[in-house]
Amino acid sequence: MNVRSLHSPVSESIDIAVIGAGAAGLMAAIFAGRTAPGVKVVAFDSAKKLGSKILVAGGGRCNVTHTAVSESSYCGSSRNAIKKVLRRFDVPQTIAFFQELGVELKAEDTGKLFPTTDDAHTILDALLAACTKAGVTIEHPFRVQSVRFVGDEFQIEFDPATPRASVQAKKLILATGGKSLPKTGSDGHGYTIARAFGHSLTPRIVPALVPLTVQSDHPLLALSGLAIPMTLQVTASSGKKLTSFTNSTLCTHFGLSGPGPLDISRHLQHAQLEDSGASLNLNVLPGRTTEELDAFLTAAGNVSVLNAIRRFYKSPPTRTIDDIAEGVDLLADLPERIIRALVTLAGADASAPCHSLTRETRKRVATSFTNLKIPVTGTRGFTYSEVTAGGIPLAEFHLDSLESRVHKNLHICGELLDVDGQIGGYNFQWAWASGFVAGTAAARC
Ligand SMILES: Cc1cc2nc3c(=O)[nH]c(=O)nc-3n(C[C@H](O)[C@H](O)[C@H](O)COP(=O)(O)OP(=O)(O)OC[C@H]3O[C@@H](n4cnc5c(N)ncnc54)[C@H](O)[C@@H]3O)c2cc1C
Repeated sequence: MNVRSLHSPVSESIDIAVIGAGAAGLMAAIFAGRTAPGVKVVAFDSAKKLGSKILVAGGGRCNVTHTAVSESSYCGSSRNAIKKVLRRFDVPQTIAFFQELGVELKAEDTGKLFPTTDDAHTILDALLAACTKAGVTIEHPFRVQSVRFVGDEFQIEFDPATPRASVQAKKLILATGGKSLPKTGSDGHGYTIARAFGHSLTPRIVPALVPLTVQSDHPLLALSGLAIPMTLQVTASSGKKLTSFTNSTLCTHFGLSGPGPLDISRHLQHAQLEDSGASLNLNVLPGRTTEELDAFLTAAGNVSVLNAIRRFYKSPPTRTIDDIAEGVDLLADLPERIIRALVTLAGADASAPCHSLTRETRKRVATSFTNLKIPVTGTRGFTYSEVTAGGIPLAEFHLDSLESRVHKNLHICGELLDVDGQIGGYNFQWAWASGFVAGTAAARC
């Protein structure tokens, strides 16, 4: 394998240098090498251990892509621009690419695709082997400190700890990722490198797909470990519904985690930055309204509040849930722990008969289950986020090559760009597609 350690630096000049050997950088390097055999492609990565983010992805199984990828599952730059890049390397091409590398993928009910081995090492090993086959050399740990354009070449300067001070390259592919999980090497330094070439950054760069922290005395925190499907909605201070997701939601000792909260996290942060009164509202009875539950409790007479809510949960909903994530089934029963917590929160007794509730209390109970405003205090930050929302706008690139419009021969791909996807394999699909576009184009022009 052409992976060189610290003591064997390249000495020849480089045709194409790739900075960052994560998902996007490896893909770019492979396709640069394949497109122009014989061209010298070298990828530099600051990490001691390559591919850490690939190895932790999908709980160590690596959720490589999703059966239904479209631009509507992404935010950031314009959807049309995202679509133009995604369609250059789509899901069937991703499946065929990995198959060619000897990796079979399987789709789960949720639409997520994983290697049949259920082991992320299969993906990383296949990508590294493909680099070798494509004639790519990977140098690590080589942290790039800065890049300057000298004469007609890029001069790449390394950290003082690296045995070589600098190298020159004719073309540069920047793939250093965003700021999520910085211990893997993606510490946001790529933004500084890109800015030195005249690129701009979005005004906000925030952690996305990140757990939410909730006021420490909130009763949901006492339900730590409980995971149920909920509808999570971002509501403007005007009451207008901004975004919603229906997916599994995990109560934790600090707040909320699981696919639903992770997906809503970027939308909530953006809404709150625009409108300080924007809130997160939960519905633990997806598809049901406050009015429906209120009417059910009114008609429940002698039945206890606890049993009435259980029955209501099991009764068929009158509406379809249009924002429910694929593969998510509602539970057969709503756990008693959450019923008691939400009834108590509304100031009522779960064991009391429904007829004993005053009109106001009954309304509060119905609201507590269907439109509960959560005092979110923030997020767990980049250390716990899966992706970065914000970055370098796609508008600054030629979309067919991801070559910079502000500096010739500079291509940028992956999470550094202002594109973030939902949970489910969308972010890797962006890395594969944008890496493919940057790598093939850098080798062609
Ligand atoms: C815990 C976790 C789980 C995830 N699970 C999934 C999943 O299952 N499915 C999915 O689609 N997405 C998942 N993601 C998101 C996905 O991993 C990223 O979107 C994707 O890895 C981004 O690829 P990238 O190559 O752009 O950046 P990165 O993977 O971050 O790679 C950037 C590389 O650049 C290197 N680098 C940074 N700065 C420098 C420098 N100055 N000099 C040299 N090298 C440098 C870093 O060491 C790193 O190797 C997950 C993320 C996390 C954190």
